[in-house]
Amino acid sequence: MRFDSGDWDGAVAALTEAHRVAVACHVNPDGDALGSLLAASLGLAQLGKEVAASWGGSSVEVPFSFSFLPGTDLLVAPGDLPEPDVFLALDCGAAHRLGALEEVAKASPCVINVDHHPGNDNFGDLNVVVTTVSSTAEMVTRLLQDLGVTLDEDMATCLYVGIVTDTGRFQYSNSTPDTLRLAADLLSLGADAPFIAQEVYESAPFGSLKLMGRVLDRAVLHEEERFVYSWITLADLAETGVAADETDGLIDAVRSTRAADVAALFKEQDDGNWRVSMRSKGPSVGEVARARGGGGHELAAGFTADEREATAASIVAELRSR
Ligand code: 5GP
Ligand code: MN
Repeated sequence: MRFDSGDWDGAVAALTEAHRVAVACHVNPDGDALGSLLAASLGLAQLGKEVAASWGGSSVEVPFSFSFLPGTDLLVAPGDLPEPDVFLALDCGAAHRLGALEEVAKASPCVINVDHHPGNDNFGDLNVVVTTVSSTAEMVTRLLQDLGVTLDEDMATCLYVGIVTDTGRFQYSNSTPDTLRLAADLLSLGADAPFIAQEVYESAPFGSLKLMGRVLDRAVLHEEERFVYSWITLADLAETGVAADETDGLIDAVRSTRAADVAALFKEQDDGNWRVSMRSKGPSVGEVARARGGGGHELAAGFTADEREATAASIVAELRSR
């Protein structure tokens, strides 16, 4: 058993016995979701399993900054995911984070939920939820080791990407000595840290400089509540030529002021709603997100809202009353 998780051994046994495994991560996947998805898929394929990987979006197009990741040949469109013996869900804090694949999971004989989000709703038949680790990739590394997979350079690359992105390049409090030791092991296996850093953090299109300019220029500060927020409209994306899946890093610019502890970035969606990314240097934003139907970690969380300014005002009020 690892991480004191009761279902750990059951998960290893179920995956060992399975012939066909569907591996999935959350919608709009980030580095940890993609890295975990692809590493797990490569590892299970090495064991001779029939593996298909996907997530519940309209397509499985990998965001540009992660397009260098190995294992993408194992991706299938969500509609083409075959009925598996085991459905392995990665980095999903709740069943609905599977999006369109939630139904496929429900129809599967065995769902394994491997995740590190507090408040996970334990939607699996087997739940391996460990909130003290840096990333789902950290858990996938141990899972693959216990399955007898020989970790190679490709898997190490995927796993390192999961860890480096979820720890904010080893900056956040979830980056423990164990995390750094694991990252070092992955470098020994061939993960190329400077190459990965360039691909993930310095491959934005030129337009995203202009987009960042807009986001920073219109940022609003609530000095007393130490809250800063900004937003991206669909028009901003169209005018700067930036894809919606290439806006993940912008919240890091918004949070970088010493004037605020809590930052939010509102992103307008095709359906008129706003996806809200929140980050904090202390006060729980997991609570803010959960109260609004979303979720995440205490210091990094997200939710969907139908109005921007009213939601920002409600967050200000909530922070003031704490
Ligand atoms: P991000 O702002 O990068 O989209 O998300 C920050 C963190 O919150 C990630 O760990 C992400 O998985 C989680 N998260 C974002 N949106 C939601 C949501 O709507 N529901 C849940 N349960 N978690 C979310
Ligand atoms: Mn994660």
